Amino acid sequence: MTEIQRAQATERLYFQDAYLQEFSARVTGRESREGNPVVVLDRTAFYPESGGQPHDLGWLDAVRVIRVEEENGLILHFLEKELSAVDQVRGRIDWPRRFDHMQQHTGQHILSQAFYEVVKGETLSFHLGQEESTVEIGIPAIKDETLQRVEELANRIVFSDLEVKTYFLSEMELTTVPLRKPPKKSGPVRVVEVSGFDYSACGGTHCRRTGEVGLIKILKQEKIRGNLRFSFVCGFRALREFENRRRFLQSASVVLSAEESEVAACVEKNLAELKNLKKRQKKLEEKLSFFEAREMLAGNPGGIISGLYPDKSPEEIKFLALNLVHQAEVLAVLAAYRNENFHLVVAASDSLKVDVRGVIPVLQAEMQFKGGGSPTLVELVSPEKDKAGRAIELALEFFKTRTGRV
Ligand SMILES: [Zn+2]
Repeated sequence: MTEIQRAQATERLYFQDAYLQEFSARVTGRESREGNPVVVLDRTAFYPESGGQPHDLGWLDAVRVIRVEEENGLILHFLEKELSAVDQVRGRIDWPRRFDHMQQHTGQHILSQAFYEVVKGETLSFHLGQEESTVEIGIPAIKDETLQRVEELANRIVFSDLEVKTYFLSEMELTTVPLRKPPKKSGPVRVVEVSGFDYSACGGTHCRRTGEVGLIKILKQEKIRGNLRFSFVCGFRALREFENRRRFLQSASVVLSAEESEVAACVEKNLAELKNLKKRQKKLEEKLSFFEAREMLAGNPGGIISGLYPDKSPEEIKFLALNLVHQAEVLAVLAAYRNENFHLVVAASDSLKVDVRGVIPVLQAEMQFKGGGSPTLVELVSPEKDKAGRAIELALEFFKTRTGRV
């Protein structure tokens, strides 16, 4: 039996006082797990990961506590490095992190009960994330105005600054309180009561008054397993979220030279204009290709025309190739870049009676290529951008031997 297995159940100081930031305790067990020293204390204010609430961080003497877990009634403190061989230690939890967890967790109790009161939606799960928290509510859909009522009720509870009480009840006594959800285990249960509003069986850490939770704001909803999952933030997180969104909206408003309330309409208008311009540009490029092809053919009236065009799009070289093979009896091998890829278009006039697809295996023998086409036009794309020149060379050699043209 290891020292840890022999240790007595840890006294959880956070049950009595969630605001306790520093404490002294006796080391009752030590071992090493996954390369980290682990210690057990006779008492601790460190909260272990459970019930959707992440574990605390902090220090035992000067050594950082990097993870806290519960195991058979023991609370395991995972340490960054070995603790000196002392019996008594001083523990200090990372208070801003813990208080943030308390705000989100207490906010969840309030929000869950608000969902229950307004739409009889039961909370199926809760997750306290690094950025946002989520609750999965057992309802298939909700109207915007109903969701607003849920949020308003939750915030009214916050602004009423109700007391949040915690107490243990025996199984018999439990029948006297309207628990939102039946407890998962038998025996005495720790009840967290948002004074007269919500009663939950919960072992987490909570604010002592609802006012400390601060604003509760629902950010988004998504469907999951036929239910709805809501993301929300409370307290300081809500404040930061407001500030981030304000800054974002302000910069969008400056870039667009529009009032903040006009940003969406302005983006919509610009997108419509952009769409029109793209259409117009495409038409002009098609027209331009005709003249470009004519000019190119003037200098090469019946051979193989090739080139790499870094300034043209893959669509433009396709227009150009089609114009070339329509205006004269030629074969065109043209390349262009897009992002990290290069595109190759090979086209031949019908009258040449060459199946340009024959070049594909020749190219694929030396580099990666995807694509295909018809006997008179193939469009290929390769991630090996630096081999565009070599691809043109290979295609030219292939067609020279096939057609006898230069
Ligand atoms: Zn709780």
